[in-house]
Amino acid sequence: MSNKNSNSIPVAAVKGVGEKLAEKLARLGILSVQDLLLHLPYRYEDRTRISAIGDVRPGQRVSIIGSIEHTDIAYGRRRSLVTRVSDETGCINIRLFYFSRTQQNNLRRGNWISCFGEVRHGRGAFEMVHPEYRVSQQQPVADSAGALTPVYPATAGVSQLILRRITGNAIDSHASALTELIPDEYLRALKLPTLRDAIVDLHRPKADERLRDLEAGSTPAQQRLSIEELLAHHMSFLTLREKRRLLEAPALIDKEAFVGGLVQRLGFELTGAQRRVVGEVLADISRPVPMLRLVQGDVGSGKTVVAAAAVACAAASGFQSALLAPTELLAEQHARTFSSWLTPLGISTVYLSSRMSASSRRCTLSRLSDGQARVAVGTHALFQQDVGFDRLALVVVDEQHRFGVDQRLAMRDKGQRHGMMPHQLVMTATPIPRTLAMTFYTELDVSSIDELPPGRTPVDTVVVPEDRREEVVQRIRLACGDGRQAYWVCPLIDESEALRAQAISGTAKLLHQSLPDARIGLVHGRMKPAEKDKVMTAFREGRLDVLVATTVIEVGVDVPNASLMIIENAERLGLSQLHQLRGRVGRGHQKSACVLLYKPPLGKHARFRLAALRDTTDGFEIARQDLELRGPGEVLGTQQTGAQKMRVADLARDCDLLPKVLALGKNMMRNHPERVPVLIRRWMSSAQEYGHV
Ligand code: ADP
Ligand code: MG
Repeated sequence: MSNKNSNSIPVAAVKGVGEKLAEKLARLGILSVQDLLLHLPYRYEDRTRISAIGDVRPGQRVSIIGSIEHTDIAYGRRRSLVTRVSDETGCINIRLFYFSRTQQNNLRRGNWISCFGEVRHGRGAFEMVHPEYRVSQQQPVADSAGALTPVYPATAGVSQLILRRITGNAIDSHASALTELIPDEYLRALKLPTLRDAIVDLHRPKADERLRDLEAGSTPAQQRLSIEELLAHHMSFLTLREKRRLLEAPALIDKEAFVGGLVQRLGFELTGAQRRVVGEVLADISRPVPMLRLVQGDVGSGKTVVAAAAVACAAASGFQSALLAPTELLAEQHARTFSSWLTPLGISTVYLSSRMSASSRRCTLSRLSDGQARVAVGTHALFQQDVGFDRLALVVVDEQHRFGVDQRLAMRDKGQRHGMMPHQLVMTATPIPRTLAMTFYTELDVSSIDELPPGRTPVDTVVVPEDRREEVVQRIRLACGDGRQAYWVCPLIDESEALRAQAISGTAKLLHQSLPDARIGLVHGRMKPAEKDKVMTAFREGRLDVLVATTVIEVGVDVPNASLMIIENAERLGLSQLHQLRGRVGRGHQKSACVLLYKPPLGKHARFRLAALRDTTDGFEIARQDLELRGPGEVLGTQQTGAQKMRVADLARDCDLLPKVLALGKNMMRNHPERVPVLIRRWMSSAQEYGHV
């Protein structure tokens, strides 16, 4: 690129940026002129409308103009400077906690002041704390007629005024240095502005720009920049994928026919979907290139067997595997399942729990590091420093949404030896929509288990207000009378573990009174793991009829004899979480039911969620609706996409731009590959570039 590229011009070249300010900007990651120009306002304010002081209310952000009545120092818990300002309609206080002598003098009676800030309740009157203000001797007129004022992400020591000034200066002298990376014909076809025009427009909105459009992210300038930013992320993922293709991994071949042995002993036939996905995974790991495959399948679709097949294949090649679960409860269950499936094949499994005694931990670790144990099952405890493997070739991550990309990478690094990478298999019950997967999960290959094992009867779901609790208790009585079991989940959100434990014990007590013959157990987050285990084991072995629990049982718990799921305060849970909880039943052959108890009145969204859950049992459909309600950003979490916070784009809002981004990406790769690294560098700080993590 030419040296006019604004990426290479240091921010200190901008008028008004001295050494001190440049240092402060550097702390924000603003090093170059380009960084400064891309430090975009996160919202805009209409300050051209002057409010009558008598009309303002706490919580509003308003512009006012008034005359100064008096200014005094107030001594409260903190010393502050209080200025009384009034117009014909009323008066308000301006409070400054930090002020200079000059400021104090300036704010004297008889001067005029125009300020902008948030109104709040003060002592005896409404007030504005540290508003932006300007003092004058004459009555001021409202300034910058028609234009919106940009508000930049807040930063210590760099005020809005400074940011407004220096971005203005950068636009005046350096905007032409912003290299256009998107092909002209593309911009013309879509009627999108150039990079330069888009950036100028966002820093200095045109007089006729509407606040509403800016807030919706729908102005041409924003759309153009969103496309470019999404493209940068997409390209970064593509690059990561290319890089992975150059790495080596052990080729895992099922020399001992362990997979066949495993399948034979299962006691059930694999579904067609399971067979297909097992085939895809085994084909991947037989190649000397690290696999990164996402297996998505609804709750109960049988993902665990797929993982076990891959693990068995690794063992047949003489390699080790690690299986990561999001909770201790689930890790323990997997450890039990895996050892029952794999021990008969001569594959030894260890369970690394965070609460083992020091000596048994030592023993387990040495069995892992000398390679005797072929499979390690655990939670994030497996990430710990002292956990070393002899020949780790496969990492399986279950219920991926609980793990961040960072953790997955940490695990991958454990297997790195002589330049070899382990294969990675990620399993999730939250499917990713197709275009999103193609743009943001480009690094992953995706397999779907789109079929449930036979003989499952869909779970009947009913929505019941909590004052009809007695009916629910009656249902439990019937189920238990039939020798079946029930869960009662109390998801008390936002409350401390202590309160939660208390509420749960309360529920258990009430149940006890209504069902004196039922054997009732309790699990919650405050219990010691050993106690929790005891209760879970008793429930699994049928020695308890009802398990009262917090959402700790949300993920993966498998007790086929349980056929009734009661969820209290269901209105407070998200769709996917409810679906996960419901998935704990309907695992055996008997008819199962799920009761969603709610506290009326229901809000609009809650009503929609409960109805959606009642009307469908298809996890993919539920995921789609969840996405609609909350947007992909929240459903997947930036953690899961691994995406840094974006500057302009918003995955939830800009979902429909993704097909454009994909097409543009293809075009760039084919016609302008040299622009790709420049684009990635423009939008992603190097630390966050996926290729580098
Ligand atoms: P999930 O996909 O939710 O992790 P699991 O792997 O826990 O599902 O499987 C749920 C239950 O279904 C387990 O009890 C498992 O043994 C059983 N299962 C898995 N595959 C089949 C199959 N093909 N036929 C019958 N039962 C199966
Ligand atoms: Mg599972």
